[in-house]
Amino acid sequence: MHHFAYRRGVSHKNVLHAEEVDLADLASAVGTPFYCYSSATLERHYRVFADAFAGTPGTLVCYSVKANSSLGVLATLGQLGAGMDVVSEGELRRALAVKVPPERIVFSGVGKTRAEMAFALNTGIFAFNVESEPELRALSEVAAELKRTARIAFRVNPDVDAKTHHKIATGKADNKFGVPFAEAPSLYALARELPCIEAAGVHMHIGSQITDLAPFRNAFALLKELVASLRAEGFAISFVNLGGGLGIPYRSDQPAPPSPADYAKLVQEEVGGLGLRLLFEPGRMIAGNAGILVARVLYVKQGAAKIFTIVDAAMNDLMRPTLYEAYHEILPVVEPASGTPTIVTDVAGPVCETGDYLALARELPELHAGDLIAVMTAGAYGAVLASEYNSRLLVPEVLVAGNRYSVTRPRPGYDDMLAKERLPNWI
Ligand SMILES: *Cc1c(COP(=O)(O)O)cnc(C)c1O
Repeated sequence: MHHFAYRRGVSHKNVLHAEEVDLADLASAVGTPFYCYSSATLERHYRVFADAFAGTPGTLVCYSVKANSSLGVLATLGQLGAGMDVVSEGELRRALAVKVPPERIVFSGVGKTRAEMAFALNTGIFAFNVESEPELRALSEVAAELKRTARIAFRVNPDVDAKTHHKIATGKADNKFGVPFAEAPSLYALARELPCIEAAGVHMHIGSQITDLAPFRNAFALLKELVASLRAEGFAISFVNLGGGLGIPYRSDQPAPPSPADYAKLVQEEVGGLGLRLLFEPGRMIAGNAGILVARVLYVKQGAAKIFTIVDAAMNDLMRPTLYEAYHEILPVVEPASGTPTIVTDVAGPVCETGDYLALARELPELHAGDLIAVMTAGAYGAVLASEYNSRLLVPEVLVAGNRYSVTRPRPGYDDMLAKERLPNWI
């Protein structure tokens, strides 16, 4: 469910709207390309997820900041009571900048530096997800220096196949993430010996865009076993962090992934009876359908074998199609009249790479230079993955709420781009 739909626009045509904002109008105001996020969609997704666990008091939904770290998005979710899952000091600073209370923040990632650990300890975050023994030792030393206690959960790698794209599977034995399941008991024993560490939780995150509940069930069943054996050995485990990973619909012609309610039911069945506080780290599920990328057609180019629709957004703005072979629905912003002929076309950008495309062999209503398109479901792992490759300016981000919009990250100018660099003093 999202709040992007065709409605009668200012032009009296049916135009795609973000909530009540006419996207053709918005494109005239901010220029193309741009990302547009819907507050109502963010709110709906957060609430659907959080409400599914309303019966388990103390549940903490830590939105995964890496999916979309726009301050407007974080502030919108923070106001609703969301916690945050961060993977760097930069993300932690973003969460703090929008006044998310530190006790609602968890810190993940295989490569936290000592400086990042110290910063997080000083702010008083809820917990660290620890991914290796050397990281545990470093955290203990940093905490001791600061005379603080680091609450931790080991991220346990259950070696389950999340049945997702290989670049976003994280819970297999050959992925860099987490500690091996079999080594967990000895690591908890080590954590008990080390100064300034409170090992109070167990964490798992097996991958992203998971569209089948079976891998979650397998992983959570293992987690439950581990919690039982740790408790039997006298470890005081008070919370489990079940990570994120719930998939979202990218295509309307394919079956919908499991709902948060189905997921919640599974969680209750596997770990509900243990009297544990539940933490989650959903990212894509909250932000994915809440954002789109709006672009303008520059040229329709008849190649020797194909028709290319060249638009002003490119792989540097939205990496997902080429990085993950991801499918994004593309809609013309002005709804085509019924009976408009369709063509099969590659939708590509101006970047000088064969991998620069937003869609391949896509059937679309005939488009013309100047037409606007919306690349749907671009709210997660979209703008955050953007770069200035080909010295293209980062595209603006716009947040909509009802009939209002705000350009939360303006388009930089070329002067801004050049001003970020220095020439060496010998030239
Ligand atoms: C990326 C990530 C998430 C979020 O995953 P989604 O598939 O976006 O829900 C959660 N936890 C950790 C540790 C992550 O790295």
